[in-house]
Amino acid sequence: MKNMLKAEDIQKIAENAYIRENEPMSKHTTFRIGGPAQLYIEPDCVESFCKIVRFLKENGEKYFIIGNGSNLLVKDEGYNGVIISTRVNASNKKNQNFGMDDYKVYLSENEALDKAARERFITEGYIISDSIEGKNLVFAASGIILAKLANVIAENELTGFEFAGGIPGTLGGAVTMNAGAYGGEIKDCILGARVMLADGSIKVLSKEELKLSYRSSIIQKGDMVVLDALFEFDKGNKEDILSTMRELNEKRRDKQPLEYGSAGSTFKRPEGYFAAKLIEDAGLKGYSSGDVMVSDKHSGFVVNTGNGKYADAMNVIEHVKKTVADKFGVELELEVKIL
Ligand SMILES: Cc1cc2nc3c(=O)[nH]c(=O)nc-3n(C[C@H](O)[C@H](O)[C@H](O)COP(=O)(O)OP(=O)(O)OC[C@H]3O[C@@H](n4cnc5c(N)ncnc54)[C@H](O)[C@@H]3O)c2cc1C
Repeated sequence: MKNMLKAEDIQKIAENAYIRENEPMSKHTTFRIGGPAQLYIEPDCVESFCKIVRFLKENGEKYFIIGNGSNLLVKDEGYNGVIISTRVNASNKKNQNFGMDDYKVYLSENEALDKAARERFITEGYIISDSIEGKNLVFAASGIILAKLANVIAENELTGFEFAGGIPGTLGGAVTMNAGAYGGEIKDCILGARVMLADGSIKVLSKEELKLSYRSSIIQKGDMVVLDALFEFDKGNKEDILSTMRELNEKRRDKQPLEYGSAGSTFKRPEGYFAAKLIEDAGLKGYSSGDVMVSDKHSGFVVNTGNGKYADAMNVIEHVKKTVADKFGVELELEVKIL
Protein backbone atom coordinates (compact mmCIF):
# COMPACT_ATOMS: atom_id res chain seq x y z
CA MET A 1 0.00 0.00 0.00
CA LYS A 2 1.18 3.53 -0.77
CA ASN A 3 2.38 5.70 2.11
CA MET A 4 0.11 8.64 2.92
CA LEU A 5 1.30 11.88 1.38
CA LYS A 6 2.55 14.31 4.03
CA ALA A 7 3.04 18.07 4.06
CA GLU A 8 6.85 17.61 4.05
CA ASP A 9 6.66 15.64 0.75
CA ILE A 10 5.22 18.73 -0.94
CA GLN A 11 7.36 21.19 0.99
CA LYS A 12 10.43 19.45 -0.49
CA ILE A 13 9.42 20.47 -4.01
CA ALA A 14 7.75 23.80 -3.20
CA GLU A 15 9.35 25.20 -0.09
CA ASN A 16 7.27 28.37 0.12
CA ALA A 17 3.87 26.78 -0.46
CA TYR A 18 1.32 27.13 2.36
CA ILE A 19 0.41 23.54 3.31
CA ARG A 20 -1.98 22.17 5.92
CA GLU A 21 -2.88 18.60 6.83
CA ASN A 22 -6.52 17.81 7.66
CA GLU A 23 -7.70 21.28 6.70
CA PRO A 24 -11.50 21.73 7.06
CA MET A 25 -12.97 22.55 3.64
CA SER A 26 -15.79 24.47 5.33
CA LYS A 27 -13.13 27.22 5.67
CA HIS A 28 -12.54 27.32 1.91
CA THR A 29 -16.05 27.12 0.45
CA THR A 30 -18.77 29.77 0.41
CA PHE A 31 -21.31 27.08 1.41
CA ARG A 32 -19.22 26.74 4.63
CA ILE A 33 -19.76 22.97 4.50
CA GLY A 34 -17.19 20.19 4.22
CA GLY A 35 -14.86 18.03 6.26
CA PRO A 36 -11.06 17.94 6.13
CA ALA A 37 -8.87 17.62 3.07
CA GLN A 38 -5.98 15.24 3.67
CA LEU A 39 -3.67 17.99 2.36
CA TYR A 40 -4.59 21.58 1.49
CA ILE A 41 -2.04 23.58 -0.52
CA GLU A 42 -1.76 27.20 -1.61
CA PRO A 43 1.29 27.31 -3.87
CA ASP A 44 3.19 30.59 -3.71
CA CYS A 45 3.55 31.07 -7.47
CA VAL A 46 2.46 29.59 -10.78
CA GLU A 47 5.75 27.74 -11.19
CA SER A 48 5.36 25.94 -7.88
CA PHE A 49 1.67 25.39 -8.65
CA CYS A 50 2.62 23.57 -11.88
CA LYS A 51 5.43 21.67 -10.14
CA ILE A 52 3.05 20.38 -7.47
CA VAL A 53 0.36 19.34 -9.98
CA ARG A 54 2.95 17.48 -12.08
CA PHE A 55 4.36 15.77 -8.96
CA LEU A 56 0.88 14.59 -7.95
CA LYS A 57 0.14 13.35 -11.49
CA GLU A 58 3.44 11.45 -11.71
CA ASN A 59 2.84 9.82 -8.34
CA GLY A 60 -0.77 8.91 -9.04
CA GLU A 61 -2.02 11.04 -6.13
CA LYS A 62 -5.64 12.17 -6.05
CA TYR A 63 -6.04 15.95 -6.26
CA PHE A 64 -8.65 18.61 -6.93
CA ILE A 65 -8.17 22.26 -7.96
CA ILE A 66 -10.24 24.97 -6.27
CA GLY A 67 -10.54 28.69 -6.82
CA ASN A 68 -12.73 30.52 -4.32
CA GLY A 69 -14.84 27.42 -3.56
CA SER A 70 -18.02 29.30 -4.52
CA ASN A 71 -19.52 26.52 -6.61
CA LEU A 72 -18.63 23.58 -4.40
CA LEU A 73 -20.35 21.28 -1.93
CA VAL A 74 -17.83 19.15 -0.02
CA LYS A 75 -18.78 15.98 1.84
CA ASP A 76 -18.70 15.87 5.65
CA GLU A 77 -16.07 13.11 5.59
CA GLY A 78 -13.86 15.53 3.66
CA TYR A 79 -11.57 14.82 0.73
CA ASN A 80 -9.15 11.93 0.81
CA GLY A 81 -6.56 13.60 -1.39
CA VAL A 82 -4.90 16.93 -2.09
CA ILE A 83 -6.74 20.21 -2.59
CA ILE A 84 -4.74 22.84 -4.48
CA SER A 85 -6.01 26.39 -4.33
CA THR A 86 -5.26 28.86 -7.14
CA ARG A 87 -5.97 31.88 -4.93
CA VAL A 88 -2.40 33.10 -4.61
CA ASN A 89 -1.59 32.56 -8.29
CA ALA A 90 -3.00 36.02 -8.76
CA SER A 91 -0.25 37.75 -6.95
CA ASN A 92 3.27 36.61 -6.42
CA LYS A 93 6.55 38.34 -6.64
CA LYS A 94 8.41 35.32 -7.99
CA ASN A 95 6.23 34.76 -11.00
CA GLN A 96 8.49 36.39 -13.58
CA ASN A 97 7.82 33.96 -16.40
CA PHE A 98 4.10 34.46 -16.60
CA GLY A 99 3.44 32.93 -19.99
CA MET A 100 2.48 36.01 -22.01
CA ASP A 101 4.69 34.68 -24.79
CA ASP A 102 2.45 31.64 -25.09
CA TYR A 103 -0.31 33.97 -26.30
CA LYS A 104 1.73 35.15 -29.29
CA VAL A 105 -0.96 34.08 -31.71
CA TYR A 106 -3.11 36.94 -30.36
CA LEU A 107 -0.35 39.54 -30.27
CA SER A 108 1.62 41.39 -32.89
CA GLU A 109 5.14 40.21 -33.61
CA ASN A 110 6.94 43.11 -31.99
CA GLU A 111 4.72 43.53 -28.98
CA ALA A 112 6.84 43.95 -25.91
CA LEU A 113 5.07 44.63 -22.67
CA ASP A 114 6.63 47.49 -20.86
CA LYS A 115 8.25 47.06 -17.47
CA ALA A 116 5.32 48.63 -15.62
CA ALA A 117 2.85 46.20 -17.20
CA ARG A 118 5.03 43.22 -16.31
CA GLU A 119 5.42 44.47 -12.74
CA ARG A 120 1.67 44.88 -12.45
CA PHE A 121 1.06 41.30 -13.49
CA ILE A 122 3.63 40.06 -11.03
CA THR A 123 2.14 41.93 -8.08
CA GLU A 124 -1.54 42.26 -9.02
CA GLY A 125 -2.33 39.42 -11.40
CA TYR A 126 -3.47 41.37 -14.43
CA ILE A 127 -2.32 43.42 -17.41
CA ILE A 128 -4.40 45.90 -19.33
CA SER A 129 -3.06 46.88 -22.70
CA ASP A 130 -4.49 49.02 -25.47
CA SER A 131 -1.27 49.08 -27.38
CA ILE A 132 -1.68 45.78 -29.18
CA GLU A 133 -2.91 46.46 -32.71
CA GLY A 134 -5.53 48.79 -31.30
CA LYS A 135 -7.18 45.96 -29.38
CA ASN A 136 -8.17 46.37 -25.75
CA LEU A 137 -6.72 43.24 -24.25
CA VAL A 138 -6.83 42.09 -20.64
CA PHE A 139 -4.61 39.28 -19.47
CA ALA A 140 -5.21 37.91 -15.99
CA ALA A 141 -4.14 35.06 -13.73
CA SER A 142 -6.54 32.30 -12.75
CA GLY A 143 -6.46 33.15 -9.05
CA ILE A 144 -7.68 36.72 -9.37
CA ILE A 145 -11.07 37.41 -7.79
CA LEU A 146 -13.69 38.45 -10.37
CA ALA A 147 -14.86 41.51 -8.43
CA LYS A 148 -11.32 42.89 -8.41
CA LEU A 149 -10.80 42.16 -12.11
CA ALA A 150 -14.17 43.69 -13.03
CA ASN A 151 -13.27 46.88 -11.15
CA VAL A 152 -9.89 47.14 -12.82
CA ILE A 153 -11.49 46.64 -16.24
CA ALA A 154 -14.09 49.32 -15.47
CA GLU A 155 -11.45 51.75 -14.20
CA ASN A 156 -9.70 51.30 -17.55
CA GLU A 157 -12.90 52.31 -19.36
CA LEU A 158 -13.48 48.90 -20.90
CA THR A 159 -16.94 47.46 -21.23
CA GLY A 160 -18.13 43.84 -21.43
CA PHE A 161 -17.20 42.43 -18.01
CA GLU A 162 -19.83 44.21 -15.91
CA PHE A 163 -21.82 40.96 -15.58
CA ALA A 164 -18.97 39.28 -13.65
CA GLY A 165 -18.44 41.88 -10.91
CA GLY A 166 -20.84 40.22 -8.44
CA ILE A 167 -19.93 36.57 -9.09
CA PRO A 168 -17.91 35.54 -6.01
CA GLY A 169 -15.39 33.30 -7.80
CA THR A 170 -11.91 33.40 -9.27
CA LEU A 171 -11.17 33.84 -12.96
CA GLY A 172 -10.05 30.18 -13.27
CA GLY A 173 -13.31 28.97 -11.75
CA ALA A 174 -15.27 31.29 -14.03
CA VAL A 175 -13.55 30.02 -17.17
CA THR A 176 -14.06 26.41 -16.05
CA MET A 177 -17.77 27.05 -15.36
CA ASN A 178 -18.28 29.54 -18.23
CA ALA A 179 -19.77 31.71 -15.48
CA GLY A 180 -22.41 34.19 -16.50
CA ALA A 181 -25.09 36.54 -15.22
CA TYR A 182 -27.53 39.18 -16.45
CA GLY A 183 -27.08 38.32 -20.12
CA GLY A 184 -23.27 38.10 -20.16
CA GLU A 185 -20.91 35.14 -19.88
CA ILE A 186 -17.19 34.40 -20.08
CA LYS A 187 -17.67 33.04 -23.60
CA ASP A 188 -18.61 36.55 -24.83
CA CYS A 189 -15.26 38.18 -24.04
CA ILE A 190 -12.53 35.52 -23.75
CA LEU A 191 -9.97 35.00 -26.54
CA GLY A 192 -8.13 32.06 -25.01
CA ALA A 193 -6.75 30.52 -21.83
CA ARG A 194 -3.39 29.01 -20.94
CA VAL A 195 -4.04 25.57 -19.59
CA MET A 196 -2.07 22.69 -18.10
CA LEU A 197 -3.21 19.60 -20.00
CA ALA A 198 -3.70 16.13 -18.53
CA ASP A 199 -0.14 15.12 -19.52
CA GLY A 200 1.33 18.09 -17.60
CA SER A 201 2.21 20.13 -20.69
CA ILE A 202 1.05 23.74 -21.06
CA LYS A 203 -0.88 25.08 -24.05
CA VAL A 204 -3.03 28.09 -24.93
CA LEU A 205 -6.52 26.92 -25.90
CA SER A 206 -8.58 29.22 -28.08
CA LYS A 207 -12.16 30.13 -27.20
CA GLU A 208 -13.36 27.46 -29.65
CA GLU A 209 -11.06 24.84 -28.14
CA LEU A 210 -12.35 25.68 -24.65
CA LYS A 211 -15.83 24.55 -25.83
CA LEU A 212 -17.66 27.01 -23.61
CA SER A 213 -21.38 26.45 -23.25
CA TYR A 214 -24.00 26.99 -20.53
CA ARG A 215 -22.02 26.48 -17.25
CA SER A 216 -19.71 24.09 -19.01
CA SER A 217 -16.28 23.93 -20.67
CA ILE A 218 -13.77 21.35 -21.80
CA ILE A 219 -11.80 22.06 -18.59
CA GLN A 220 -14.45 20.25 -16.55
CA LYS A 221 -14.18 17.14 -18.68
CA GLY A 222 -10.50 16.87 -19.38
CA ASP A 223 -8.42 16.91 -16.15
CA MET A 224 -7.06 20.35 -17.07
CA VAL A 225 -6.01 23.39 -15.07
CA VAL A 226 -6.52 27.01 -16.12
CA LEU A 227 -3.42 29.11 -15.39
CA ASP A 228 -4.45 32.44 -16.93
CA ALA A 229 -6.63 33.88 -19.67
CA LEU A 230 -6.75 36.62 -22.29
CA PHE A 231 -9.83 38.78 -22.97
CA GLU A 232 -10.79 41.50 -25.41
CA PHE A 233 -13.18 44.36 -24.61
CA ASP A 234 -14.60 47.48 -26.23
CA LYS A 235 -13.91 50.99 -24.98
CA GLY A 236 -16.79 52.38 -22.97
CA ASN A 237 -17.78 55.21 -20.68
CA LYS A 238 -16.38 54.66 -17.20
CA GLU A 239 -19.33 56.22 -15.38
CA ASP A 240 -21.82 54.08 -17.34
CA ILE A 241 -19.81 50.93 -16.72
CA LEU A 242 -19.51 51.59 -12.97
CA SER A 243 -23.17 52.50 -12.72
CA THR A 244 -24.21 49.24 -14.47
CA MET A 245 -22.04 47.28 -12.04
CA ARG A 246 -23.59 49.07 -9.05
CA GLU A 247 -27.08 48.35 -10.41
CA LEU A 248 -26.35 44.64 -10.90
CA ASN A 249 -24.87 44.35 -7.41
CA GLU A 250 -27.95 46.02 -5.96
CA LYS A 251 -30.15 43.52 -7.82
CA ARG A 252 -28.12 40.70 -6.28
CA ARG A 253 -28.43 42.13 -2.78
CA ASP A 254 -32.20 42.53 -3.27
CA LYS A 255 -32.86 39.10 -4.72
CA GLN A 256 -30.19 36.77 -3.34
CA PRO A 257 -29.73 35.44 0.22
CA LEU A 258 -26.17 36.77 0.48
CA GLU A 259 -26.33 36.76 4.28
CA TYR A 260 -26.09 32.92 4.31
CA GLY A 261 -23.57 30.40 3.08
CA SER A 262 -24.39 28.97 -0.35
CA ALA A 263 -22.86 27.98 -3.66
CA GLY A 264 -25.11 30.28 -5.69
CA SER A 265 -27.74 28.73 -7.96
CA THR A 266 -27.93 25.11 -6.90
CA PHE A 267 -29.40 23.82 -10.16
CA LYS A 268 -28.80 24.61 -13.81
CA ARG A 269 -31.59 26.30 -15.74
CA PRO A 270 -33.61 23.52 -17.36
CA GLU A 271 -34.42 24.22 -21.00
CA GLY A 272 -37.64 26.20 -21.25
CA TYR A 273 -37.97 26.72 -17.47
CA PHE A 274 -36.46 28.57 -14.52
CA ALA A 275 -35.29 26.30 -11.70
CA ALA A 276 -36.27 28.85 -9.01
CA LYS A 277 -39.82 29.18 -10.37
CA LEU A 278 -40.33 25.41 -10.53
CA ILE A 279 -39.06 25.04 -6.96
CA GLU A 280 -41.27 27.85 -5.70
CA ASP A 281 -44.33 26.52 -7.58
CA ALA A 282 -43.69 23.11 -6.03
CA GLY A 283 -44.15 24.78 -2.61
CA LEU A 284 -40.55 24.13 -1.57
CA LYS A 285 -39.53 27.63 -0.44
CA GLY A 286 -38.14 27.28 3.09
CA TYR A 287 -38.00 23.45 2.90
CA SER A 288 -35.21 22.44 5.28
CA SER A 289 -33.13 19.67 6.78
CA GLY A 290 -31.01 20.65 9.80
CA ASP A 291 -29.44 24.03 9.10
CA VAL A 292 -29.77 23.74 5.32
CA MET A 293 -32.82 25.06 3.51
CA VAL A 294 -34.28 26.26 0.25
CA SER A 295 -33.89 30.01 0.62
CA ASP A 296 -37.16 31.79 1.26
CA LYS A 297 -35.73 34.85 -0.51
CA HIS A 298 -34.65 33.08 -3.73
CA SER A 299 -35.73 29.47 -4.18
CA GLY A 300 -32.92 28.77 -6.67
CA PHE A 301 -30.49 28.94 -3.73
CA VAL A 302 -30.01 26.20 -1.14
CA VAL A 303 -28.48 27.95 1.87
CA ASN A 304 -26.58 27.06 5.02
CA THR A 305 -28.13 29.07 7.83
CA GLY A 306 -25.66 28.00 10.52
CA ASN A 307 -23.98 24.69 11.05
CA GLY A 308 -25.25 22.92 7.93
CA LYS A 309 -23.90 19.51 6.98
CA TYR A 310 -23.40 17.82 3.62
CA ALA A 311 -26.03 15.23 4.54
CA ASP A 312 -28.57 18.03 5.17
CA ALA A 313 -27.71 19.69 1.86
CA MET A 314 -28.18 16.40 0.00
CA ASN A 315 -31.50 15.74 1.78
CA VAL A 316 -32.76 19.11 0.59
CA ILE A 317 -31.32 18.73 -2.94
CA GLU A 318 -32.75 15.21 -3.42
CA HIS A 319 -36.15 16.22 -2.06
CA VAL A 320 -36.29 19.23 -4.39
CA LYS A 321 -35.27 17.14 -7.42
CA LYS A 322 -37.85 14.45 -6.67
CA THR A 323 -40.70 16.87 -5.94
CA VAL A 324 -40.06 18.95 -9.09
CA ALA A 325 -39.79 15.78 -11.22
CA ASP A 326 -43.03 14.37 -9.74
CA LYS A 327 -44.98 17.62 -10.09
CA PHE A 328 -43.71 18.99 -13.39
CA GLY A 329 -41.83 16.13 -15.06
CA VAL A 330 -38.64 18.26 -15.16
CA GLU A 331 -35.27 16.74 -14.17
CA LEU A 332 -33.17 19.33 -12.34
CA GLU A 333 -29.43 19.03 -12.89
CA LEU A 334 -26.94 20.25 -10.27
CA GLU A 335 -24.88 23.32 -11.18
CA VAL A 336 -22.94 23.00 -7.91
CA LYS A 337 -19.99 20.57 -8.05
CA ILE A 338 -19.90 17.88 -5.39
CA LEU A 339 -16.56 16.88 -3.97
C1 LIG B 1 -23.78 34.08 -3.81
C2 LIG B 1 -23.32 33.43 -5.08
C3 LIG B 1 -23.72 33.96 -6.31
C4 LIG B 1 -23.31 33.36 -7.50
N1 LIG B 1 -23.69 33.90 -8.70
C5 LIG B 1 -23.30 33.33 -9.85
C6 LIG B 1 -23.69 33.89 -11.11
O1 LIG B 1 -24.38 34.89 -11.17
N2 LIG B 1 -23.27 33.27 -12.24
C7 LIG B 1 -22.48 32.15 -12.21
O2 LIG B 1 -22.10 31.64 -13.28
N3 LIG B 1 -22.09 31.60 -11.04
C8 LIG B 1 -22.48 32.16 -9.86
N4 LIG B 1 -22.08 31.60 -8.67
C9 LIG B 1 -21.29 30.36 -8.67
C10 LIG B 1 -19.75 30.56 -8.68
O3 LIG B 1 -19.39 31.79 -8.08
C11 LIG B 1 -19.18 30.48 -10.08
O4 LIG B 1 -19.41 29.20 -10.66
C12 LIG B 1 -17.66 30.75 -10.09
O5 LIG B 1 -17.23 30.89 -11.42
C13 LIG B 1 -16.84 29.66 -9.43
O6 LIG B 1 -15.53 30.14 -9.25
P1 LIG B 1 -14.60 29.60 -8.07
O7 LIG B 1 -13.26 30.20 -8.25
O8 LIG B 1 -15.25 29.83 -6.76
O9 LIG B 1 -14.57 28.05 -8.43
P2 LIG B 1 -14.65 26.83 -7.41
O10 LIG B 1 -15.99 26.78 -6.78
O11 LIG B 1 -13.46 26.82 -6.53
O12 LIG B 1 -14.54 25.62 -8.47
C14 LIG B 1 -15.60 25.37 -9.36
C15 LIG B 1 -15.13 24.33 -10.39
O13 LIG B 1 -14.09 24.91 -11.17
C16 LIG B 1 -12.88 24.15 -11.05
N5 LIG B 1 -11.77 25.10 -11.05
C17 LIG B 1 -11.63 26.24 -10.31
N6 LIG B 1 -10.50 26.88 -10.67
C18 LIG B 1 -9.92 26.14 -11.64
C19 LIG B 1 -8.73 26.27 -12.42
N7 LIG B 1 -7.91 27.33 -12.29
N8 LIG B 1 -8.45 25.31 -13.34
C20 LIG B 1 -9.26 24.24 -13.50
N9 LIG B 1 -10.40 24.05 -12.80
C21 LIG B 1 -10.72 25.00 -11.88
C22 LIG B 1 -13.02 23.35 -9.76
O14 LIG B 1 -12.24 22.16 -9.83
C23 LIG B 1 -14.52 23.08 -9.75
O15 LIG B 1 -14.83 21.98 -10.59
C24 LIG B 1 -22.48 32.20 -7.46
C25 LIG B 1 -22.08 31.68 -6.23
C26 LIG B 1 -22.49 32.28 -5.04
C27 LIG B 1 -22.02 31.71 -3.75
